[in-house]
Amino acid sequence: MTGLRELLATGTSSFSFEFFPPRTEAGAAGLWQAIRRIEAFAPSFVSVTYGAGGSSRDATVELTKRIATETTLRPVAHLTAVAHSVAELRHVIGQYADAGVRDVLALRGDPPGDPNAPWIPHPHGFSHAWELVRLVRESGAFSVGVAAFPERHPRSADWESDVRHFVAKCRAGADYAVTQMFFRAEDYLRLRDRVVAAGCDIPIIPAVMPATDARQISRFAQLSGATFPAALARQLEASGGGPEGRRIGVDHAVAMAARLLAEGAPGLHYITLNRSTATSEIHRALLGSGLAERALAVRT
Ligand code: FAD
Repeated sequence: MTGLRELLATGTSSFSFEFFPPRTEAGAAGLWQAIRRIEAFAPSFVSVTYGAGGSSRDATVELTKRIATETTLRPVAHLTAVAHSVAELRHVIGQYADAGVRDVLALRGDPPGDPNAPWIPHPHGFSHAWELVRLVRESGAFSVGVAAFPERHPRSADWESDVRHFVAKCRAGADYAVTQMFFRAEDYLRLRDRVVAAGCDIPIIPAVMPATDARQISRFAQLSGATFPAALARQLEASGGGPEGRRIGVDHAVAMAARLLAEGAPGLHYITLNRSTATSEIHRALLGSGLAERALAVRT
């Protein structure tokens, strides 16, 4: 199978879906239903988030391994430096290598409990994602992705330092980046221009989060530092959620994604929240439109 690095380097646009390890049996059943539906799209990859600690981390490793062995999908394993020594990180990377998982999204992570609390590194661990990028790179034939922030990382003092630290991840060996969720195409385009001007040209894949529930999205936006545009929030609130809320969220995502693709974005990364309905609707709508059909050529 062509590596993700090689695939992205060809300039072909990628499209991918993000999942998290479920906490309950019912959650697992819903997730696997979503995975099987999404498998039919033959995406470039699917990614599995890494929990803040404890058993959710084992669940990430297990789910990623299961996707690798029981589906036709290429899993990308998120990995964070939170509360891990370098030896523990090496162990997790080794588990992926043994399971044939060759693609890792290397992240620093946030302090468990309160993402806005001060960052305290593990005494034998890392303080910044670029160190993890280097470790994964040194650990074998992995492709390495990193995080990008269209509205800059909430902890970055200014754009200059934010972009400098992003470029450090490129220099450490990142092959591509996936963005935090955002709702205004301009934010992505500005970040991309800044990064290119700073001398880094790795593909930055924009995340697409269907905003179908005003309350849920404003909570996520608050946690991640993303701006939830007031007009979209008002429209969603007025809809009362349900099918009308979904239509509004899907329409907004389709319009933004179409603009991003027209502006040359290298693909799309759908945040599914372990459900397939809204992201499938967005993807189908994009495939049905002339522009996205060209940009999102379905792979064989
Ligand atoms: P870094 O690149 O290390 O940046 C963190 C902060 O430190 C930034 O402000 C940066 O400017 C600054 N910085 C970097 N290097 C230096 C330096 N040398 N000196 C001083 N300051 C520096 N979290 C999870 O827990 N699990 C997940 O699965 C997960 N998946 C994610 C997927 C995506 C696509 C994104 C965008 C985020 C994800 N996150 C996840 C959240 C992420 O871990 C947090 O946003 C975290 O705060 C930043 O991670 P990073 O990898 O960008 O860190």
